Amino acid sequence: MKKGIALAVVLGMLLCGCSAGQNTPQTSKTETSVQSQVSEESSEESKEESKLPEPESRDVFAMDTYMVIKAYGTNAKKALEESEKEIQRLESLFSVKVRDSDISKINSTSGNPVTVNASTRTAIAKAIEIGDMTDGALDITVYPLVREWGFTTGDSENEPSYKIPEQWLIDWHLGNVGYDKIILNGNIVTLPTQFEIDLGSVAKGYASDAVLQILDENKIDSALINLGGNVYALGRKPDNTKWKVGIQNPVDANKMICSLSVENQAVITSGNYERFFEQDGKKYWHIIDPKTGYPADNGIISATVIGDSGLECDALSTALFVMGTEKAIDFCKKHKEIDAVLVTKDMKIYVTDGLTKHITMEDDLKYEVIKR
Ligand code: AMP
Ligand code: MG
Repeated sequence: MKKGIALAVVLGMLLCGCSAGQNTPQTSKTETSVQSQVSEESSEESKEESKLPEPESRDVFAMDTYMVIKAYGTNAKKALEESEKEIQRLESLFSVKVRDSDISKINSTSGNPVTVNASTRTAIAKAIEIGDMTDGALDITVYPLVREWGFTTGDSENEPSYKIPEQWLIDWHLGNVGYDKIILNGNIVTLPTQFEIDLGSVAKGYASDAVLQILDENKIDSALINLGGNVYALGRKPDNTKWKVGIQNPVDANKMICSLSVENQAVITSGNYERFFEQDGKKYWHIIDPKTGYPADNGIISATVIGDSGLECDALSTALFVMGTEKAIDFCKKHKEIDAVLVTKDMKIYVTDGLTKHITMEDDLKYEVIKR
């Protein structure tokens, strides 16, 4: 999707972010963002929302994504300016496309130690931790395969060059995958030779936490941070009701499957509709199974994680997607601290028990509860 069109979509939808170069424009979005599809009740709510004071709002294009941050309060303008700068700082550290980013330095000198910024260190350390926790479903060393499939070779100005790699190339790259081989010593990162990493699975979650901290320092207690569908809802709306965050229907970009009432929580989705291409009637997407080198195709087409930390939710949503239906359900059962909404290929929806009081389904969709 081209920048101009995407931006129009964002503005038209008020609070929905999207990534450039994607085949479909949005991930999760606020309920007010799709007025034409929401239920009667939600439409009423939209009317109510129009009575709210005008928030300070900032559109940012970074990390290949259109982001919108809305904040209420006296310091909101200053806070949003600082937030935009912080997002850009993080992009300049994390991006695989910025030549002198920390990640580019690590990748171009793999085999040698590289001193990185504290933010880069924190993001890598969390990715390794979640790699361990998810039995390697999250593996930031999968990058050579992500690139081989063409998912990062395009940029916002040029079309991506998607392709199905030859099997020998996949096998070869698989030999250079393994997050457990990353050596992290203080702020010094060393990768084995030929290894490369990419923080695409955690960068926006990290950024939402960083923005949250800035808002907090500026005494903002009501805001909605939407970094391309990675949403963090700070506090409540000015009318003291909770924020409503919708989860996109993975098979229909114009619809939601449900909305969640949230307060001080991140809602982060990984979906097969975010970046993909089709060849010979088959869809190939950007989340790679580190075991096969192919797009993770284990039953889940959308995984949303809800929790306090944007970074953790981002890492876990990618990991649950990779795990697939059975393993992801088992994982949620074992980790009671995690709340999630999983959507499978056959449109079965699984919701952890912690969410049942906060979820409103769209249309006549039903879900199965993951009981803990
Ligand atoms: P997300 O949208 O947060 O699920 O992250 C997806 C992005 O993370 C992809 O575009 C890749 O850059 C990267 N990625 C793909 N597969 C994996 C994986 N198994 N583990 C870690 N990062 C991945
Ligand atoms: Mg993620």
